[in-house]
Amino acid sequence: MKYDVAVVGAGFSAIAVTLQLLRKLSPHQSVAVIGDDPGFGRGTAYRSEFHIHRLNVAAARMSIFPDRPDDFLNWQMEKGRSVKAGDYVPRSDFGLYLRDRLAELLRQRQTCARVDFIKAKALGCLDIGADTTMIRLAHGGELVARNLVLCLGVGSASIPAPLRDLPETAKSHLVENPWRLGWLSKVGANERVCILGSGLTMVDQVLALRASGHQGMIHVLSRRGLLPHRHDRQPVSPVPPELPETDRRMSKLLAALRKQVRRGAPWRSVIDGLRPHTQTLWQELPDAEKKRFLRHAVPWWTVHRHRLAPDVADDLDRVLNDGRLTVHAGYLQQAELSRPGISLSYRARGSREIRRLTADWIVNCTGMERAGIDHSPFLQCMEDRGQLQPDPLGLGIMVDETSRLIGRDGQPQHNIHVVGALTAGRFWEITAVPDIRVQANAVAAQIAAELASSPASDVRAATS
Ligand SMILES: Cc1cc2nc3c(=O)[nH]c(=O)nc-3n(C[C@H](O)[C@H](O)[C@H](O)COP(=O)(O)OP(=O)(O)OC[C@H]3O[C@@H](n4cnc5c(N)ncnc54)[C@H](O)[C@@H]3O)c2cc1C
Repeated sequence: MKYDVAVVGAGFSAIAVTLQLLRKLSPHQSVAVIGDDPGFGRGTAYRSEFHIHRLNVAAARMSIFPDRPDDFLNWQMEKGRSVKAGDYVPRSDFGLYLRDRLAELLRQRQTCARVDFIKAKALGCLDIGADTTMIRLAHGGELVARNLVLCLGVGSASIPAPLRDLPETAKSHLVENPWRLGWLSKVGANERVCILGSGLTMVDQVLALRASGHQGMIHVLSRRGLLPHRHDRQPVSPVPPELPETDRRMSKLLAALRKQVRRGAPWRSVIDGLRPHTQTLWQELPDAEKKRFLRHAVPWWTVHRHRLAPDVADDLDRVLNDGRLTVHAGYLQQAELSRPGISLSYRARGSREIRRLTADWIVNCTGMERAGIDHSPFLQCMEDRGQLQPDPLGLGIMVDETSRLIGRDGQPQHNIHVVGALTAGRFWEITAVPDIRVQANAVAAQIAAELASSPASDVRAATS
């Protein structure tokens, strides 16, 4: 059959789009969800089974539906749990919530569009008509759809260059993707671990190590050695940002925010107050200012904006205070085998001094891939065909203001949308649930409206 919509991806974005399509399409319409991850909807973020892996957004802001903001809290109530608006619950709970809400809609077969879940990797796609795209699947099949929504997330960052030449024997102790949590069970209780990167991923891995019985020394190395700040236990009220009317120089914008804090506004309230304006502000910035922000301000922005749940911050403080977690600020220079272990040398921040540290395990927590499309053969294939353009800032792929994919010819593709962090070049603030759910809803509404206004073509598809 020919689907009206194919959603490619298996994380939160894909499920948010699918749910909204189910609410907006009519029963004779059809959706295919193509994902290579068995836990549809959970993605990297919500599949962890560790209780200490908490949401970093309060429960009150985690509804999947922008028009039903209390839905996640209501689900908790349905489960007989007393979760308050400002609580930071385990991420696995959120995964269960997504699964439940999807299952409820799928049960309403008489009134909802048909949905087929296809467990496969999408390898590429080809336009085969004015409103028809053929998607090639890894197991050899093909699928045809009138609309395509790309919800591919961003891969994890590739390992830093000095580690790439380590001998094969050492590579078995190099954890490239820490989200495959299987590595934790291989680490000896007293082995030394060096984590590269000092953000939220690092914190998750440190706490997961400790929860798995690890007691050895943990070194954390990052360029600035900055740790994420914590959320207040009492939810803060956002305050509207007092920004210059027209001046969009980054230095002036940041100075205005600092001034607001100096005048007495709590910094968390200022950051949170900026959030509803961030996407618009980002789109108003000249490219040179965006580059300036990415070059100089991102690490500071990140630790203030992406904060730790209070309980998680307390757990991290305990590990820091027991003296077996050391944070180093510096630039990784070299890695070599040093039986036993792997020896890393780094240039300490603000000096020329080269320091060394040795660990049995090296774990790459340098964050999400922001380098665009290299992690995805699907996107590379689309680029080769001229169907997309990488974002010039290296933040994903180019889309227009309605999240339509922009092709090499500079024109938006009317039937291909992108949802989630791949659109960060256009929107910047588009990596978390409160933003993605709005984008998913808007994209589903556009597709539903277009399908309603254009009659179905009679192309037949071959799914093999
Ligand atoms: C550890 C962690 C914790 C987080 N915690 C929070 C939080 O508490 N609150 C919050 O708001 N946000 C949080 N986030 C942000 C999070 O990124 C978003 O909430 C959301 O999960 C992103 O989902 P996504 O579907 O866009 O991407 P992903 O979750 O990365 O999913 C993309 C999916 O697409 C699949 N895929 C990719 N390419 C193909 C292909 N070619 N064919 C088929 N399938 C493909 C992948 O296998 C993957 O399953 C967290 C992120 C992480 C990593």
